[in-house]
Amino acid sequence: MKVVVTAGPTREHLDPVRFLSNPSTGKMGFAIAEAASKAGYETVLITGPVTLKTPARLRRIDVVSAREMLKFAMSEMTDDSVFIATAAVADFRPMRCAEKKLKKASMGSVIRLVKNPDILKSIRRKYKGAKLVGFAAETNDVLSEASRKCREKGLEFIVANDVTLNGAGFGTDTNKVFFVYPNGAIIEQKMMTKKALAKKIIHAVFHT
Ligand code: C5P
Repeated sequence: MKVVVTAGPTREHLDPVRFLSNPSTGKMGFAIAEAASKAGYETVLITGPVTLKTPARLRRIDVVSAREMLKFAMSEMTDDSVFIATAAVADFRPMRCAEKKLKKASMGSVIRLVKNPDILKSIRRKYKGAKLVGFAAETNDVLSEASRKCREKGLEFIVANDVTLNGAGFGTDTNKVFFVYPNGAIIEQKMMTKKALAKKIIHAVFHT
């Protein structure tokens, strides 16, 4: 059984030195990949730019943009694999990326954006038999937003967290989440380290 995990932020470049991104550090995704590989599953970690060390016994693929992450996710997945989408994928990218650094004077105050592909939805469309797990980082309406995303993206379950809580969300070593299922079931988890939560997620994928 193969487990493919996405982690970290994506960067959407405007030119070689400027980009749109978010504060994801990759800690949650790396902990999940480590837990999957320790549990004995063949594990592939597809990560955006982060400063974390690669956990033992897994294959790491470094990417920058959402489109690159999509390309590797599609080629690593199979119908009987598990896909855990922990990455904070940028929703939009600049319509154009200049080859050379843009001159400030030529830039103006408007950047045209286009929507990035949804990696989870693309995986669902192509790999109908695969088990998919998503994350929903929310600041309000946490459970209703999470349950909508769980159904829309065809997930086994979604891990929902309120990123405004202390000790949860971007960059922390701990997290406080709910597992939200497509049938409406919700399991509240207590605050715990991302490493402990990673083990629970791997257990929930394979044993429930
Ligand atoms: O951004 P959103 O709240 O929709 O993210 C929910 C889930 O979808 C996360 O698991 C995230 O990794 C995934 N996602 C994705 N491709 C995107 C946006 C989000 O796979 N373009």
